[in-house]
Amino acid sequence: MNTRRKLVVGNWKMHGSRKGNAELLDGIAGARPFGCDVAVCPPFPYLAETAVALAGTDIRWGAQDCSAHEQGAYTGEVSAGMLQEFGCRYVIVGHSERRAYHGESDQLVADKAKAALARGVTPIVCVGETLAQREAGETADVVKRQLAAVIHTLAHCAGEIVVAYEPVWAIGTGRTATPEQAQAVHALLRAQLRAATGSRADEMKLLYGGSVKPDNARELFAQADIDGGLIGGASLKAADFVAICRAAG
Ligand code: PEP
Repeated sequence: MNTRRKLVVGNWKMHGSRKGNAELLDGIAGARPFGCDVAVCPPFPYLAETAVALAGTDIRWGAQDCSAHEQGAYTGEVSAGMLQEFGCRYVIVGHSERRAYHGESDQLVADKAKAALARGVTPIVCVGETLAQREAGETADVVKRQLAAVIHTLAHCAGEIVVAYEPVWAIGTGRTATPEQAQAVHALLRAQLRAATGSRADEMKLLYGGSVKPDNARELFAQADIDGGLIGGASLKAADFVAICRAAG
């Protein structure tokens, strides 16, 4: 276990309702204190209510995406400045579902990360390989290429991001990377960050995501370069999410 304070982030994806969210947030907030940093990322329309529900707690909130643009004629998009207005601490960018279903390129993801940082919102940059890429032995090349675009675009600010390694084959499938598989990729991502940011890389948070559950979280979080998790399905049930946060604390 390393000494960096862990971070656990819930990615609610396109789930939730006003009533259900209130119960979920109540359940999470009521289980404090956690020995780690905790955040939830609800869909955009629920950000304001989430901010109210979590006011006065140390639980933070964020969004699941943002525009690369500051403002303008971009129907359906939400800017980082808007997220900042709603108190977002984080924004997930480059989630594999956005890369796959919305054709987001490495450069667009990098531009979104830059737009977020410009507004003081920390981007959680997702990288990860597909099953076919892993089986072809391309994992290292793929994740390094995805991260390189962000490092290049952010230049001296690259040390301010959070990185989430999310193997696509482990997201929502119930199939988790083994702690050793995850650690191996985290170690090479941290080496890449160290080459770009120097010792700053040793303070950066690298999260693992992909079917993290209460029963596998502790072992994943015990790895030398895993600093917490980005949690999808298991973040929708307060008891499971709380158990994962406790495993990180
Ligand atoms: C995610 O979508 O970021 C994720 C990790 O999902 P799950 O935990 O459901 O695999």
